[in-house]
Amino acid sequence: MKLLNYIKGKFEEPGSAEWMDNLSPSTGKVIGSVPLSGESDVKLAIAAAREALPEWSGMDPSGRAEWLDRIADCLEEKFEEIAYLESLDTGKPISLARSVDATRSVSNFRFFSEMIRDMEDEIYEMEDATNIVKLRAVGVGALITPWNLPLYLLSWKVAPAIGMGNTVVCKPSELTPLTADLLMRVIDEVGLPSGVVNLVHGNGNSGSMLTGSPDVDLVSFTGGTSTGAKVAQSASPQFKKLSLELGGKNASIVFSDCDLEETVKGVTRAAFLNQGQVCLCGSRILVEDSIYERFMEMFVESVESMVIGDPMDDDTELGALISKQHLQKVQGYVSLALEEGGQIVTGGEPCLPKELEGGNWMSPTVITGLGTETRCSTEEVFGPFVTVHRFNSEHEAIEIANNTRYGLAGSIWTMDLEKGRRVAENIHSGMVWVNTWLHRDLRVPFGGVKDSGVGREGGKWSLGFFSEPLNVCVRHD
Ligand code: NAD
Repeated sequence: MKLLNYIKGKFEEPGSAEWMDNLSPSTGKVIGSVPLSGESDVKLAIAAAREALPEWSGMDPSGRAEWLDRIADCLEEKFEEIAYLESLDTGKPISLARSVDATRSVSNFRFFSEMIRDMEDEIYEMEDATNIVKLRAVGVGALITPWNLPLYLLSWKVAPAIGMGNTVVCKPSELTPLTADLLMRVIDEVGLPSGVVNLVHGNGNSGSMLTGSPDVDLVSFTGGTSTGAKVAQSASPQFKKLSLELGGKNASIVFSDCDLEETVKGVTRAAFLNQGQVCLCGSRILVEDSIYERFMEMFVESVESMVIGDPMDDDTELGALISKQHLQKVQGYVSLALEEGGQIVTGGEPCLPKELEGGNWMSPTVITGLGTETRCSTEEVFGPFVTVHRFNSEHEAIEIANNTRYGLAGSIWTMDLEKGRRVAENIHSGMVWVNTWLHRDLRVPFGGVKDSGVGREGGKWSLGFFSEPLNVCVRHD
């Protein structure tokens, strides 16, 4: 598959004439080539977005909502293709690509279409004047996304961005370009006015050309914390609107009064969904001392029963890691865990399902015996790697949970819902679930604190980020 950029309504070869290989995570084989876009490609895409801006931002919001619906309908027709391409490109199980990636990509467009259709100006009356608050487009947006949930996250940005009247240039991860290309085919098929959505493929350099461009007004970035710092540095001198959704090292806190069977299921899912490559994954498991042994017995059994295999097989629960480089990073943490005094309870080995040699395979790994200050217990690993720790009191659980530079999410498992809420309110993060995980209502704010990011996405927070409020005050004596 040879992919092209999408600029001003046309699929174009990169002016740079440079290409990158796209590799299958499950076999290591080349499955296609992707443009490595350079300065001229990025400039053309930004210029196309700028040219399309006046007409698009001038359209009535309900007109734009109709376009979002058309995109959602067309995506829905390609539901199976989305799941197939996402599984091929990321190495994730096809069942997950259907239930999470394909489903959410469609619902992101539907959800924001409805919100934008229902949007009204706010009115504030004074004795002698009326204030109208109107949300207007910001301008040209750069939307940069990672490899773990490619279309899920790209659609989460494109839908509210164009819905609010902005025009955009997308830059998906170079490791997973396939469904971004599919979205451009959908946009082309429905006939969205040219230049409203443009896409340049490429690596971090291509991304930085976008974020640093003086012709880009807004940057919405999801990715790693260290990349987020570079993006902030390049975007801030021009005072661009900036949203950063970054890494996480989230705690799952298991109290002795939990429903143990449900908790083990939930904590296993939170630890290893998408091979642990979700920013929200609960990769530090804190267990109350009195049930530690019983929990570990059930948890290890649950982890060892997960089916690892061909991502395209319907029964597969764990697929491949995204790249050789990432696999080496995760394996490096297994060695580090031993150096830091930990024990491997299960996993820690590369595992090669039959006929998939050459892929990036690793068994789900559980580490115990580490101090809560160690690097393995506080740094984001972003793979099938969890550490388990004991605690004795609510206070201690909160202290351990907060003992990291990240602050994205967390989950608490207890039958005492009042305690669940009380503990949740003391966790320094953007989202906390009680007796559940990744239970998403698209109306609520999504995002983190500390090194997990700046700003929020979701519902009215996305509409706020992708717009500028204008206050018109009319005096009427
Ligand atoms: P990454 O930071 O390496 O890359 C993300 C994107 O940024 C890619 O498209 C990449 O090409 C681009 N990029 C790289 N350098 C750039 C630069 N200097 N300027 C502009 N763009 C640049 O992240 P990744 O490895 O693709 O994704 C994994 C990370 O993403 C993890 O840390 C994970 O926690 C995080 N993540 C966060 C969320 C969230 O919502 N908070 C969601 C998913 C993933």
